[in-house]
Amino acid sequence: MFNKEKYQDIIAEIPSNIKIVGVTKAKSPEEIKRAIDSGIKIIGENYIQEAKQKYEELKNLLKEKKIEFHLIGHLQSNKVKDAAEIFDCIQTIDSKKIAHKINESSKNIGKIMKVMIQVNLGEKQKSGIKPEELSSLIQEIRKLKNLELSGIMAIPEEGDEKSFELLKELKNKFNLNELSLGMSQDYKLAILKGSTMIRLGTILFGERSY
Ligand SMILES: *Cc1c(COP(=O)(O)O)cnc(C)c1O
Repeated sequence: MFNKEKYQDIIAEIPSNIKIVGVTKAKSPEEIKRAIDSGIKIIGENYIQEAKQKYEELKNLLKEKKIEFHLIGHLQSNKVKDAAEIFDCIQTIDSKKIAHKINESSKNIGKIMKVMIQVNLGEKQKSGIKPEELSSLIQEIRKLKNLELSGIMAIPEEGDEKSFELLKELKNKFNLNELSLGMSQDYKLAILKGSTMIRLGTILFGERSY
């Protein structure tokens, strides 16, 4: 269950300009409603199929309350069309090919999609581009009219300060607004190191089945 008291404790202790993404994979639409009632403004989902089902149930509420719906999981080419329809921001762009596809799908439905580039500093999981590829991908995305690049996101090993610092340097180097970094276990450190957007699952919603 969404823990409203915990949420209020967290917002009381962090700077007010830090955005909180409520990560709701494996959580029900009822729990998402509860989170929204408690003041959560951004919902993050990992899987298109699951997100689409919840979106159908929640879309009126999302619109009415101006809630942003973010994709924070890897996006496959064959799911881009669905993703473009349901999300307000796709945080996990990691190739020119996927950027072009999202641009195309967004254009078809008359939408400007907010996007972030996922950077991988050597973590085991495969998603994300290497820092040396960032400049070229940013230039490409900035040419695409139906994409609006807002920042970078990363999933470094928990509490990996060196990675946090490098990510902040990259954000500054390329003049980006957002750094989506930090989860339940390390969000405080991430904020100290320059995160502007933290992604909180377990600490707000409790343990997940996956
Ligand atoms: C699941 C997930 C989170 C939330 O993780 P918690 O440790 O439960 O806070 C954040 N970001 C991404 C990309 C995730 O997949």
